[in-house]
Amino acid sequence: MAEAPLVIRVKEADNVAIAVHDLSAGTRVLPGVTTRQDIPQAHKVALTDIPRGGEIIRYGVVLGYAKDDIPVGAWINEHMLDLPRTPGLDDMPFGTNLVEKKDLPDPPRTTWLGYRNKVGPAGTRNLLGIVTTVQCAAGVVNVAVERIKKELLPKYPHVDGVVAVTHPYGCGVAIKAREAHIPIRAVRNLIRHPNFGGELMVVGLGCEKLTYDMLLEPEEITPENTLTLQDYPGHDAMMNALLAMAEKKLQRLNERRREELPLSELLIGMQCGGSDAFSGLTANPSAGYAADMLVKGGATVLFSEVTEVRDGVHLLAARCRDAATRDKLAAEMRWYDEYLDAGGVDRDANPTPGNKKGGLANIVEKAMGSIAKSGTAPIEEVLSPAEKPTKHGLIYAATPASDIVCGPSQLASGIGLQVFMTGRGTPYGLAAAPVIKVCSRSELKAHWFDMIDVSAGGVATGEQTIADVGTEIFQLILDVASGVKKPFSDQYGFHNDLCIFNPAPIT
Ligand code: CA
Repeated sequence: MAEAPLVIRVKEADNVAIAVHDLSAGTRVLPGVTTRQDIPQAHKVALTDIPRGGEIIRYGVVLGYAKDDIPVGAWINEHMLDLPRTPGLDDMPFGTNLVEKKDLPDPPRTTWLGYRNKVGPAGTRNLLGIVTTVQCAAGVVNVAVERIKKELLPKYPHVDGVVAVTHPYGCGVAIKAREAHIPIRAVRNLIRHPNFGGELMVVGLGCEKLTYDMLLEPEEITPENTLTLQDYPGHDAMMNALLAMAEKKLQRLNERRREELPLSELLIGMQCGGSDAFSGLTANPSAGYAADMLVKGGATVLFSEVTEVRDGVHLLAARCRDAATRDKLAAEMRWYDEYLDAGGVDRDANPTPGNKKGGLANIVEKAMGSIAKSGTAPIEEVLSPAEKPTKHGLIYAATPASDIVCGPSQLASGIGLQVFMTGRGTPYGLAAAPVIKVCSRSELKAHWFDMIDVSAGGVATGEQTIADVGTEIFQLILDVASGVKKPFSDQYGFHNDLCIFNPAPIT
């Protein structure tokens, strides 16, 4: 067997490679390249002498320009390069890299077991979702949900759970602000999440700005679907009303059964968080391989995180099916550029201290790794935050990259499951849809052996291929979506709060 590599170079043109393990000074990593100092795992080694102002290239892409001369074998950290200019958004070529369906990897199976809905994608779980119109109602709803789980749920064995969908929006906000439609759309679409089976249960306080008519159709605003806390005389009456309302919904949900469905009824999301320099080599391309299999089988796959694709936007434009899709991609990027600009920051606010410790020098490097999770399929549609897709296949859903904001945005778009890639490790999870965790390094799987569902670490050491891990992820997606398996986050109930994206002013 060939000796495992000490460093990994992605493209022939790259003048840096990343360390597979911690490397000591004086290690010969490639012919003519000996480390000049200790280099931490996942960090970059210069493969050639790079002069001051010279390009630093990884993934065949310029990550930045050397601030000083960098000799071959030196450690390149985030302080040693200047960021290149943001790629322009005008007239990006589109449709120049459309991989045909026949060239995508074949899925090993093409059906799954889901809860069919009247419209839209099928559910991966059968849940009662109780959605608040305002944070003021959250305390009551949380208590009610605990009681419903304990007192009612055991009577309805075909219902998988009860979820409080609470959020910070609803009052004390400029409800008519230009961008208020974004959080309002998120709440509106969360109420109709595919895992809630079309049963609407919306709880308001009574004096908030976000009113039922902004969230529901006129015929949906009935005592069966809405409950206003201020209408009830005290605690007991309020709780009794909530439990009575929930019981009627549980009775109907209990009639639902899983059925064998084509992949075209499956909608999932991809996200990454706590990334490192391995994410783009192992976990994200493996997830991308699974995404390609899903797309070939007819499923719909969302990927997101604007600041993490901004520097690779031209690569995405090349994969856009048509000019309209390219134009919406550019519009979403422009909107986000202005949003960041209004806050006096730019995209370089993105890499976290943990990302940098994990070897990611800047947002360009992070973006190249992040895009890998989208696989290679053409982009059929671009969504604004919290919009629902109208097409099948690979879809770019513009959301912030923040894990806890991207999650609810994709949920509002209707994902029945999220695949989450991590390098540094995060216990992240969602109550409304299962989250599968994929790690980029074997060390993290060893460390969090009972919290990470799939390790892609073997890709870096040559023990596994991207196709091996990608197929494993695909199979786990279908098993979890079908209710055959539970990811660790659901086994423990590690579920994050829903921070819906509100770019509009708070009053
Ligand atoms: Ca993220």
